[in-house]
Amino acid sequence: MKATKMDRPNQGVKCIVTNCHYYMQGDHCSADKIEVQPKSASKSEETDCATFIPEARM
Ligand code: SF4
Repeated sequence: MKATKMDRPNQGVKCIVTNCHYYMQGDHCSADKIEVQPKSASKSEETDCATFIPEARM
């Protein structure tokens, strides 16, 4: 799922991953949509944002 980087926060998402391409100051995510995996998770600690892209790669 390809996400588009917006010039404003996605109000439905709080994120603290500061080295993500989509991260915005104030613990915001600027992706228009995100994907969370994996299907087999049984607690929140086992889930991850699959939309994450390292800032350094961009
Ligand atoms: S894409 Fe995922 S990891 Fe990156 S800022 Fe948004 S919620 Fe956080």
